[in-house]
Amino acid sequence: NNYIAIKSHIDGNPKESDFEIKSDPLVLSVEPNSNEIIVKNLYVSIDPYQLNRMKSFSSSQKASSYAVALAPGQVIDAYGVGKVVASGNPEFEKGDLVVGLITWGEYSVLKGEYMLRKLDPLGFPLSYHVGMLGFSGLTAYAGFFEICKPKKGENVFVSAACGSVGNLVGQFAKLFGCHVVGCAGSKKKVAFLKEKLGFHDAFNYKEETDLKATLKRYFPDGIDIYFDNVGAEMLEAAVANMKIFGRVAVCGVISEYTDAGKRAAPDMMDVMYKRITIRGFLVGDHFNIHSDFISTTVDHLQTGNIQVIEDISTGLESIPLAFIGLFRGDNIGKKMVKIADE
Ligand code: NDP
Repeated sequence: NNYIAIKSHIDGNPKESDFEIKSDPLVLSVEPNSNEIIVKNLYVSIDPYQLNRMKSFSSSQKASSYAVALAPGQVIDAYGVGKVVASGNPEFEKGDLVVGLITWGEYSVLKGEYMLRKLDPLGFPLSYHVGMLGFSGLTAYAGFFEICKPKKGENVFVSAACGSVGNLVGQFAKLFGCHVVGCAGSKKKVAFLKEKLGFHDAFNYKEETDLKATLKRYFPDGIDIYFDNVGAEMLEAAVANMKIFGRVAVCGVISEYTDAGKRAAPDMMDVMYKRITIRGFLVGDHFNIHSDFISTTVDHLQTGNIQVIEDISTGLESIPLAFIGLFRGDNIGKKMVKIADE
C-alpha cells in the first residue's frame, strides 16, 4: 500500500522535497468482528490545516493544537470518499461507499476508533461529497449561517474567496440576499468571482498596498460580516472597516500557517466601541446541522442556484504538489486528488 508521508517536520512554506511516497505490505482481508476495515481510497481532500499538523511543535503548542500532530513517516489521515474492500465491522460491507477520515494513500487500514459513515451519493458525483456536500460545504454553511448570523441586505466580505470554503460562503451569502465582495490572489480569480460566481465585486489583494483603504473603497458604508480565511493584515483591515455590531467569523488564518511570526493584531478599541463580535469556529462542532445543510444544498444544486467549483488532480503522487499549491494560491475551488476509479 503506497501512501504519502512527511520526511521531517515542516516550518514555513511546504515544498515537494518535504514529502515522500512510502509503502507498507497490505493484505486485503480482515478477521470477522475485528472492527478493522480496509477502504480503497477514491478521492481525498487537500486541506490547509494539515500544514499545522506537520510543524515541529513545542510541548505547549501540542497541547493546544486542535488537530493531532503528525510524525515523519506516519500515514496521514484526511477527509475523503472510498469504497470498502474488507470489513470486520458489521455496520459496513464490502462494496459500500464511505465518507470520512481516510488517508493520503491507496488504501486506508482503519482500526480502533475511526470516523466513517456510509455514503449515499444522492445521484451526485463522488467528488461533490468531498467538497460541496462534504467538509468544506458544511464549514461554509455553518460558518456563515450559525456564526455570522446574516440578515438580508447586509454587507459581506470574504477572503480567499476563490477557494473551497470562500466561494461557497460567497454563493450562500448572495443567495441569502447579502451584498458580497470577495478578495483573491490573482486577476483571473477576481474575474472568476465576478463573472462566473456573480459576486457583486472582488479585488486582488496582491495588487493593494493599503488594505484598510481598499476595504473602505469597496465598503463605503462599512462591513457587517467578515468571513476570515486568511488572518493577519486582512483581519486587521476588516476590523477597521466593520460597522457597529459587525461579526467576524474566524474560519482560518492561512497567511499565519506558514509564518510563525505573523499574527493579527486588530484594533481592540475598535472592537470595543463598535461592539464587534470576533468568533472562531471549527466545523466539527456543527454536525448537528448536517442534515439541514445537506437538504438545503441539494435543493440549491437541483435548482442550479449554486455552482460546484472543483480543482482535481489525479494520482497519489500528485498529493504533495496539490497541497503545496494551496499556499501559493494555485487552486480555484475545492482542491482534491482522485486516487482511483470506483
Ligand atoms: P482554499 O481552497 O481557500 O485554499 C487556500 C487559499 O488560500 C489559496 O487558494 C490562496 O488563494 C489563499 N492563500 C494562500 N496563502 C495565502 C496568504 N498568505 N494570504 C492570503 N491568502 C492566501 O482552502 P479551504 O477553503 O480549504 O480553506 C480556507 C480556510 O478555511 C483555511 O484557512 C482553512 O484552514 C480554513 N478551514 C477551517 C475550517 C474550520 O473548521 N474552521 C474547516 C475548513 C477550512 P489566493 O489566490 O486568494 O491567495
